[in-house]
Formats: sequence, structure tokens, C-alpha cells
Amino acid sequence: MKVLVINCGSSSLKFQLINSEDESVLAKGLCERIGSEGSRLVYSTHKIDKKELDKDLKDHTDAVQMVIDTLTDKEIGVIESLKDVDAVGHRIVHGGENFSKSVVIDDEVIKAIEACNDLAPLHNPANLIGIKACEKLMPHTKMVAVFDTAFHQTMPEKAYMYGIPYEYYDEYKVRRYGFHGTSHSFVSERAAEMIGKPLSETKTIVCHLGNGASITAVKNGKSVDTSMGLTPLEGIIMGTRSGSIDPAIISFLANKENISVNEVMDILNKKSGVLGMSGISSDFRDITKAMEEGNERAKMTMDAYCYSVAKYIGSYITAMNGVDVIAFTAGVGENNPYIRKEVCSYFKYLGVEIDDEANSQRTEDAVISTDKSKVKVLLVATNEELKIARETLALI
Ligand code: ADP
Repeated sequence: MKVLVINCGSSSLKFQLINSEDESVLAKGLCERIGSEGSRLVYSTHKIDKKELDKDLKDHTDAVQMVIDTLTDKEIGVIESLKDVDAVGHRIVHGGENFSKSVVIDDEVIKAIEACNDLAPLHNPANLIGIKACEKLMPHTKMVAVFDTAFHQTMPEKAYMYGIPYEYYDEYKVRRYGFHGTSHSFVSERAAEMIGKPLSETKTIVCHLGNGASITAVKNGKSVDTSMGLTPLEGIIMGTRSGSIDPAIISFLANKENISVNEVMDILNKKSGVLGMSGISSDFRDITKAMEEGNERAKMTMDAYCYSVAKYIGSYITAMNGVDVIAFTAGVGENNPYIRKEVCSYFKYLGVEIDDEANSQRTEDAVISTDKSKVKVLLVATNEELKIARETLALI
């Protein structure tokens, strides 16, 4: 079977065509700058390294059409016709409280996703446009919605309720939802497999450290707490997001700078985090390099970042009354040995010990703690697209 995985952003569309027999990626790509000048598809297959195809893409329907045309192209395509696509799996950012697992898409589901638009105004409408474009161009293909928030619906009330008047939960559903659920679920399953323990008996802390980043406590296979909240702004310091701050900073800055709350929010989302702190970059490669060259603000930023990750891990060890595995994943988690080591240095009191050689090598998935370490520390390559394809197949 072949599953097309679609991840629609406001001006982009990422896709992968996955062969379920061996879970290989037959083709993948990214349509960028949809709706503006210079739109194009960056495309690769198991045979073609990377091809940039310029095309005027006025909307997401154009982009889906281009993806279909490219996948079925005589020269660079990987399938004969659209009939070879057995199902489409859509990544949906916010499922609110309506969705605790993936679902086959029908009109009711579309309405329920629309009802969550308020909670993710930048993401959900774009995700829906992707669904509608696919419906139009491939009306007979089954489609499944896989939600970033669904995995976290197992959190207990005490973890998802905020200390604000209850009416806001009742009326607007203001609560912690959490994100990156597909990744946290994939990585926690893989981590249990790697240490040879049943998932149902394992306490795992997954550190998904990418540009956006979140940490989840997974107890016996279920998310019991996670660092992102109502929106992805809460939690650890990120590439450009501040993570958790004193909420009073918002009105303080608005008054001092004579700007609106929305403008402050924009700063907290796009100009803060390691970018804002270091004044250098949101990319951890640049921060690491500057730090190694003796830049003090880069060092301060890195210290604050690692400290914020360690504090969440510490609180989740308390939440689960212990931990068996700490797993690092995503761009930074998979590629930055300094951060992994620095974060783990806070848990020496628990007997966490990093194997420097294993930690410095970049293999696919690896145990990076020593044999003696009381807690296993792992590097796990996340694969959200594969997880979406698996969920999609399971439902059709
Ligand atoms: P997102 O999916 O949230 O955009 P990623 O998971 O791709 O983010 O992570 C982006 C971050 O990963 C960047 O800050 C970058 O520094 C880091 N990163 C990605 N690849 C590497 C690499 N090969 N070596 C070191 N860091 C990397």
C-alpha cells in the first residue's frame, strides 16, 4: 500500500509518499511560497537527489495538483497514476478536546476541526485547506486526520488545568493541550523497544528539541504531562519562542514600548528564544559555534536553554515518581551532543551517566548512557511522517 502524507502550512505543503510494505519513502517534497512570487516544489525520490521545480502556485489546490503531477510524471515520478495512492494522511495541528486519536475524515470531522480554528488560527485553517484540496483532486481516496494534540489527551486534569477562573475553561476551553504528539508517541514507542521493556511498564521523558520544542512525560505509554500549553508558546526556551515567562511581562513591555498585546505576542513567538537572547541566530549550530569562539552571550543563551530543558525533565521525574528513559529527538536533540551532555549533567544525583563516545557519534538511534547509568539516555530519530502513515493505514 502507498500512503501520501500531507503537512500543510499557511504558505507551504510538505509531503511524503510512503510504501507501507517496507516503510520506505518513495518520494518527498516541499512546496514553498504558495500564493506568492517564486513558488516552487523541492522534490526528491529514492533515485533523484533534489530537484527544484519552479511553478506558479496560486493556492494549495495548485500545490496538491503539482504534487500529483510530479508523483505521476513519466520521468521523475514514482507511481503510474493517482490510483496507486491508497490513502492520504493529513497532519492536523489542533484537535482540541474533540480528538484523542486519529480519525477517518468525513464532513463531521471537518466541522470539528474547523471548530478548533480559534485555538490554532495559523495552523488549522491551512491544514483544512490541504484536506479540501485533496478532496477535490482525489475524491475517491480515503483520508485520515492525525492530530498533534491527540496523544496528550490522556493528561490528567491536574496537569492540563491552569490556575485561572474555571469559566475560561468552560467557555473557551482554555487548558493545556500540548503539541508534537505524533513525535512524542513515536519516540516513546521506539525508546521502549530499544531498551527491551514493554511500553506499558516504562516511564519515559521525551525531549523533542527542534526549532519548536517540547518535553513530554510518558508513563506506561500515555502522555501524563507536556511542556507546551494552549499554544506552542509555553514551555522551554525555543529557537524563536520565549517559552514560559512571567505573564506580567506582556503588559509591562506593551506599556514601556507603547505597542499592542499582539505586537508583544509576535515578539514572544518570533523574536525571542535563543534568537532574541543571543542576538545571533535561532539555529543552534550558530549558537554552538559562537560559544566555542568565546562569545559570552552565546554561552549564556546555551546555559539558559539547557537549564530550562533540565528543569522540565526534573519536574516530570517528580510527576511520574521516577524515570527509566530520557530520549532526545528532533533537529537539536538528534544532532547536538553538547546539549544532550549538558542537560544530563543536572541528573548526576540520580546516577545518570553519559557515554562520551556514544554521545559524540551520530548514528541513527543509539543508547548514549553508560552501562552503569541508572537511567537510560537515548538518541532517537523522530519520524512524524512514518507515524502518520502507520496511523492512516491502521484506520483504512
Ligand atoms: P523544526 O522541525 O521545529 O523546524 P528541526 O527539528 O528541524 O526544527 O530542528 C532545527 C534545529 O536543529 C536547528 O536549530 C539546527 O541547529 C538543529 N540541527 C539540524 N540539523 C543539525 C545538524 N546536522 N547538526 C547540528 N544541529 C542541527
